[in-house]
Amino acid sequence: MAPARKFDWDDAKRRYQAGESQAEIARSVGVSRTALRFALYPLELASSRKYTAEWQRQAVCAVCGGQCGRYGGQDPASYRCRSCANKAQATSVRDNELRCQTCREWKHDLAFPHNRLETVRRGRHRSCRDCNTALRKAYRERIKVPCDKCGKPRLPAQETQGATGLCRNCYQLRHQ
Ligand SMILES: [Zn+2]
Ligand SMILES: [Zn+2]
Ligand SMILES: [Zn+2]
Repeated sequence: MAPARKFDWDDAKRRYQAGESQAEIARSVGVSRTALRFALYPLELASSRKYTAEWQRQAVCAVCGGQCGRYGGQDPASYRCRSCANKAQATSVRDNELRCQTCREWKHDLAFPHNRLETVRRGRHRSCRDCNTALRKAYRERIKVPCDKCGKPRLPAQETQGATGLCRNCYQLRHQ
């Protein structure tokens, strides 16, 4: 016996052709509008499934380089095949706690900044807030270039207002 359908597709189609809106029909039979649309347009469902399968096949796992189902996030650097995603989850996710990839400590979820791309980590960043602050600071030091006037390290022009090529100190002296 075929499994019972959630709602009668033919009936939904008739009601739609008779002028009822998709929203009304979906609400009255208790299904999502997406489900209803797929019922009304089966071809759309088929092509969307094909598209999703194709999309998942094309990606490469950033850890093992294997074929990938794009588990882990939407950023290519965070693509994982299912087995790497499971491994990462087992070693960096517990109830209410996550492991920081920088300091390797287990901390409460709230100790990590939000990152909606990290689906495996409940939408939290891979590094904790403390490590993020330190990493950002180190990054700012790394990109510094010498001031045109005194030669002391300064942030590159695009990082400061004015784009003068001067460190903050020399800039203020000039504009006094
Ligand atoms: Zn992998
Ligand atoms: Zn940390
Ligand atoms: Zn200077």
